[in-house]
Amino acid sequence: MSQIVKTEAVVLKSMKYGETSKIVTFYTQKYGKVTGIVKGARASKSKFGASLDSMAYVLLVMYKKETKGLNLISQCDLLKSFRYISSDLDKLAEGLKVIELVYRVAHDEEQNLPLFKLIVGTLSDLDKADKNFSSIGFTFEIKLGEILGYSFNFSTCGKCGRNNFRKTEQTGSLLFDFSRGAALCSDCQNYIIHPVKISSDNLAILNRLETTAEISAASNIEINPQNKTEIGNFLFDYLRYHISELKDLKSDKIFNNLKKSNPH
Ligand SMILES: [Zn+2]
Repeated sequence: MSQIVKTEAVVLKSMKYGETSKIVTFYTQKYGKVTGIVKGARASKSKFGASLDSMAYVLLVMYKKETKGLNLISQCDLLKSFRYISSDLDKLAEGLKVIELVYRVAHDEEQNLPLFKLIVGTLSDLDKADKNFSSIGFTFEIKLGEILGYSFNFSTCGKCGRNNFRKTEQTGSLLFDFSRGAALCSDCQNYIIHPVKISSDNLAILNRLETTAEISAASNIEINPQNKTEIGNFLFDYLRYHISELKDLKSDKIFNNLKKSNPH
């Protein structure tokens, strides 16, 4: 048994199937991650066009199964293609990171409205941004962690709550506790469970990224290449520490290959 439903969605992944069809995974507004078959999607006069490309924001009509499994997609209309994301390789890498992470961490058919809004908001801001695309990508990762229940605290000690990092640490490096999502000050370091080093400069940058109310404002935060590498590794390792679906992935494996891949 299946029912016909309509929902907004973002295309996460699309692959060829048989002679003319495609199997497409969407993140939908109403049902979370959903996979469906689009018959005739690759036929020469297909009505689907660019609506099945990765990152496309669409309005979907499908025959949805009552049990989890492959659904039949009957209609998919493009609401927005975010076409400027593909115009720049660095932008594209951030956009693909967004959909790859969602594809990995989202469970099938579990609605999560904040996550849906975060995906659409991030892709839309990335589409419009003209600089500092990685700051947008980092803000996405921070907010993704928060939505999934792994919040950060970049401003105060995760144990005593004081903000005395800079006064007590002269080395420029602090110990961040992945299990608490916060750094610990030098007085509290005996309580640390999963310590990871982070420079105090980068902790301050992460605090700025986390406290930007709108993701679009993150594109005003410039980060130098060395700090970018440390922050990128830090955030991905943090997500991987908490989210079992990411544990078998190495960050370079996903993200370095993304730059070479094609979204279509
Ligand atoms: Zn403390």
